[in-house]
Formats: sequence, structure tokens, C-alpha cells
Amino acid sequence: MNEASDTTEVRDVVIVGSGVAGLSAAVYAARADLEPLVLEGPEPGGQLTLTTDVENFLGFPEGVGGMELIQRGKEQAERFGAEFAHGTVEEATLAERPFELALSNGDVVRTRALIVATGASARWVGAENEEELMGYGLSTCATCDGAFHRGDDVLVIGGGDSAMEEALFLAKFADSVTVVHRREELRASELMATRAREHEDVEFRWNTELLEIHGSQEEGVTGATLVHHPDGYPTEKLGDGADVDREEVDVGGIFYAVGHEPNTEFLADTPIDLAESGHLETLEGMTTETTVDGVFAAGDVMDPDYRQAITSAGTGSMAALDAEEWLDEREARGDAPAVAEAQADD
Ligand code: NAP
Repeated sequence: MNEASDTTEVRDVVIVGSGVAGLSAAVYAARADLEPLVLEGPEPGGQLTLTTDVENFLGFPEGVGGMELIQRGKEQAERFGAEFAHGTVEEATLAERPFELALSNGDVVRTRALIVATGASARWVGAENEEELMGYGLSTCATCDGAFHRGDDVLVIGGGDSAMEEALFLAKFADSVTVVHRREELRASELMATRAREHEDVEFRWNTELLEIHGSQEEGVTGATLVHHPDGYPTEKLGDGADVDREEVDVGGIFYAVGHEPNTEFLADTPIDLAESGHLETLEGMTTETTVDGVFAAGDVMDPDYRQAITSAGTGSMAALDAEEWLDEREARGDAPAVAEAQADD
């Protein structure tokens, strides 16, 4: 692992994020001799490291483990000269050049071009005690933690494809799986919904939400308080003072599958444009350029729609190609090279 603390050095390209988008960008940028630095944040390898088999990544007819795909991608990027360093970006200065990234360990990284590939993280529901019990029977990843729940009754919160997938996966271990959904229509695709509905160990609670989780870090999750309202969205109704039914259930595990939030917090005070959802905006047309010249976006952080491993890899490679072209054009225009910028700023 390399250190990222040399504040006088200005990199050509820094890639923030080491999921499939960041790795693909690293392979392309390294092969273009840009010697990229990849900053691995709080979830190195990204969401694929939380998956078991990836069956739809081109070239793997038998499927490939998510972790294996990531490890091999990292090896591939390193083989061409990409450097990796641990570093969570706390603050980005994008209004001046070179761009400056302040990391949580106190290091500062400077770069001419920046590729943001920070992905997205699992959303939480907001139930009482979730902070205390996350990781102690409460989880956002059935494939990671499902096997700890052999013989348990478990809840899955959510009504999308992820919730269906998690419920079906958990049904292999748990005694019973109850999907708790806040309205009475699933968001999941017909195929996934049918599979879950037809599974004998998967039940559904409609118009129901999780209000409180019971248990402790010593005992794990022991139960939950659910609220129900026939018109759906019961916690909202509760907040408005309406009558809702409450029910205490005994469960040994709870899995959140209520979507993901893009990791763009560190960009909030920069001039870059974010969508209302928090995703990075890219310019119109097929490009990874953002509203700040020299900053490119790849993967789930800019993609609220497709969110596939293969599309993330695709936008990662696009971001590296876009960054390479941008650097070339800049050099051709005679813009100050990186070293001069560094000296001017020192
Ligand atoms: P999603 O489609 O955004 O679904 C999130 C679900 O959580 C929705 O049903 C939503 O309810 C519910 N929800 C959100 N916030 C909530 C809260 N605070 N409390 C209770 N419920 C809440 O997210 P996803 O299921 O993670 O899927 C993301 C994308 O990946 C989708 O495009 C999906 O198709 C894709 N995906 C595909 C597969 C597959 O095909 N194998 C597997 C996983 C994911 P509402 O419906 O009421 O909004």
C-alpha cells in the first residue's frame, strides 16, 4: 500500500473509489501511462464485495464471485502501474487548480484530473435502535450475513428487486422470511416478485413498516415493533397523529433492502452539480464529464438507473478515456503542466 501524503506532487489522474467503476477507470488510465492513484474509501472494492455470484458479467458463463472479480480487477490495474492508497475524501477543493482532496487521515492529494467513482451505500430505514444493532442481527447485506440466521425468523424491509433477492437468498437459511413493505404494491420486477411470492417460506406484510428494533449488542436482534395502516406509509400516518396498528414480532434478524444513496457528501460544498437524488450530474450526451471541467464521474455515483457491474465498468473506462483526452487537449493548448501548477501553488 502506498502513502498518499505527498502534498507537493500533482497527479495527472486520481480516481476516488475502488469498486468496479474505479478499477475499470484505473486499468484504462494506467494503460494510457497516466499512473493513476486509486483512493480506496471506507468500503474497498465497493458493492460487488458484498455479492456472492455475479452471473451476468460478460465472459463468465459459469458466473464469478463478486470478491474475485474485484480482486482480479485490482491486480489487472496494478499490473499496468495503478497505485492504490487507503483514503476517504473528507473535503474536495474543485474551484481551483490543481484539484485538492483532503483525506480523513490528514493527507492531502492534488490532481489535474479527477474521476469520482465513489458508488452508493445502503440506505437505512430510520427505525429506533438501528444504529446500535447494525451488525448485531441487523444487516444491509443478506449475502454477507444470511448464513448467521439458520433456523431464525427474519424480516426483509423493502419492496424492490433487492428485497425479493434478499428474501429468496435468506429463505435458504432462515425458518421463515417476512417481507415488510410500506404499501401494497411491489416495486420489484414481475419476475422477481413472482419468484418471491411463490416461495413457500416467504411471506409478505403489506402497508407495514418497521418502527423499532428490539435486542442488544450482546443478544443480537430479538424482535421488532411493526406498524400497519390500511392506506400504506404507516410511520408517516403515525407522525400525522393517525391511528395505526402496532404489532410486536419475535425475529432473530432484520435485513434492510430499501435502496442506496450515492456517495457524494464530500462534494456538497463544491461547485459541481448534483441531482436532487444526490447523484453526480454529467453533461448531456454520452460523456462522463461533470459540470466542473476536469472532473469525471463513473459508476453508481452518477447512474440512478442501470446500476449494473457491467455498466459501471463501462462508465469507468469512459471516464478514463475522457480524462485522458481532456489532459491531452489541455497540454496541446499549452496550459501549465502539473509541476508548474504545484510550484505556483506552493
Ligand atoms: P429500489 O428499486 O429503489 O427499491 C427500494 C424499495 O425500498 C422500494 O420498494 C421502496 O418503497 C422501499 N423503501 C425505500 N425507502 C424506504 C423506507 N425508508 N422505509 C421502507 N421502505 C422503503 O431499490 P433496490 O431494490 O435496491 O433496486 C435498485 C435497482 O437495482 C433497481 O433498478 C433494481 O431493479 C436493480 N436490482 C435488480 C436485481 C435483479 O434483477 N436481480 C436485484 C437487485 C436490484 P416504495 O416502493 O414504496 O418506494
